[in-house]
Amino acid sequence: MLPLDPQADIGRRAWVPCPRCADSNGCATCAERRTCAEHWRYLLSNSGSLLHLQCPSCAHVWDHETGFGATRSGWRRTTSGLPHS
Ligand SMILES: [Zn+2]
Ligand SMILES: [Zn+2]
Repeated sequence: MLPLDPQADIGRRAWVPCPRCADSNGCATCAERRTCAEHWRYLLSNSGSLLHLQCPSCAHVWDHETGFGATRSGWRRTTSGLPHS
């Protein structure tokens, strides 16, 4: 098992390319910025438009600035928005 953050929750995901393993490179679904079933990141937490993410492939943790803090319209395109289940 990868050392996932205790906050990692499959109900909270974000579709952001991983800067470490870049596992979405060459994926047609990701290239279209769609919600790929294979390439997504755990959304550990967020502060405004800054997302705290962890990659399930390589366990890399990083912060991603979406630049969408004000309206949250872009937020919905980037994250799943699913409630916990
Ligand atoms: Zn990764
Ligand atoms: Zn993909």
